[in-house]
Amino acid sequence: MRLAPTVKLLVVGVSTASLGMIGCNPERKAVQAQERPLQSQVRDVASSASADVEALVQLGPRVAGTPVMDKASSYLMQQYRRAGYVTEIQTFTYPKFEDLGSSLTVNDKTIKGQALNGSIAGKLIAPLVAVPNTGRAADFTSVNVKGAIAIVRRGEIRFLDKARNAAAAGAAGLVIVNNQPGNLDGALGGEAHIPVLALSNEQGNLLLEQPVSPPASLAVNTHQRSVTGRNVVAHLPGVVQPRVILGGHYDSVAGSPGANDNASGTAVVLAIARKVADTPVGRQAWFVAFDGEEDGLHGSRAFVRQAEPQFLKGLKGMLNFDMVGVNNQLRVGGTKTLTILAQRADPGASIFGNYSGSDHAPFAGAGVPVLFFYRGQEPNYHQPSDRTVHSRLLDETAKVGLDVLQRLLGANATAGVEGRLSWEDANLAS
Ligand SMILES: [Zn+2]
Repeated sequence: MRLAPTVKLLVVGVSTASLGMIGCNPERKAVQAQERPLQSQVRDVASSASADVEALVQLGPRVAGTPVMDKASSYLMQQYRRAGYVTEIQTFTYPKFEDLGSSLTVNDKTIKGQALNGSIAGKLIAPLVAVPNTGRAADFTSVNVKGAIAIVRRGEIRFLDKARNAAAAGAAGLVIVNNQPGNLDGALGGEAHIPVLALSNEQGNLLLEQPVSPPASLAVNTHQRSVTGRNVVAHLPGVVQPRVILGGHYDSVAGSPGANDNASGTAVVLAIARKVADTPVGRQAWFVAFDGEEDGLHGSRAFVRQAEPQFLKGLKGMLNFDMVGVNNQLRVGGTKTLTILAQRADPGASIFGNYSGSDHAPFAGAGVPVLFFYRGQEPNYHQPSDRTVHSRLLDETAKVGLDVLQRLLGANATAGVEGRLSWEDANLAS
């Protein structure tokens, strides 16, 4: 859904009002907020979550390690500072696998494939030998693959086991054919000493059925590059030990501007931060925009790795928001005590089981109670068309997130928030 023009107009008015707050003493801001009529307090709360999503989307795909991430992190730092927070950039590096174009040529016909993530590079000319079944060790006993390019079907055992079995039988390269329609884009998940190429079901099946072993040329063209990621960490001045961390990743996959995945979660975290600035709740939280999630949760892993054990022990919870701007049904998952809080905050929220594919996972692994907010899969996932979200869903997610945060911190900590603003008062987009 595109943002309605009326929302944009409101946003313009709001940003202008919030510009006046830059450099403002936070204590003075709090006093002013109490004295003013409610409507103007609301405007001081600053931009809307949907405006933040749009600002991030307009930068283009936010791929970790690219200059766009400098712009995206600057935007987020500016927004947090405007709301009264101090910000830090936490950097980390990791190796990133890239397929620079890989193929198999048989009978003068070149078929484009996909190097399995983690495969070594390699070029070789050798007979293409079809291996029966799925490439279990026993399947290699009926064929001679010494020095050859082995070709097997996907399924039953891990890609890595197929590659190791092929290498153990003397193959110089391996081709894995998808057992479902379409391309196969997978990860090897470990070290194999031969290049491994994946082919689509449509193109690979014909090769598996060939009675002879034709000469073939395999070209797996990959490399590893070192990526430096940037987590944006925001907290109120002097807050060194938060009790709760709220986070969401702000990177996206190549080619996708990542509105729902995950400018939506980034914007919801920012919206909650704006809401609790200058309150006791705000003084017990850190807000983190994680980088490098799409390449394997690198930002959240780095955060947990770099944290002192005492810091992690002091956390009552980590709330993670990923893909929360599309689909009406809010889903929550994670530590049971926290999913119970979430259902009290939103009785309509459904609970889903173990899902470890986002930034709460490294925290859960370190023993921190976690809660994951998610609205499920949608057709634009990881596509160039992931450009818009529903502002109502962002606001609803932020409202539930704030409610959970207050419940988690207990009644005493929340007086300052509840006394001044209810979520609806600040909900400009509706
Ligand atoms: Zn995501």
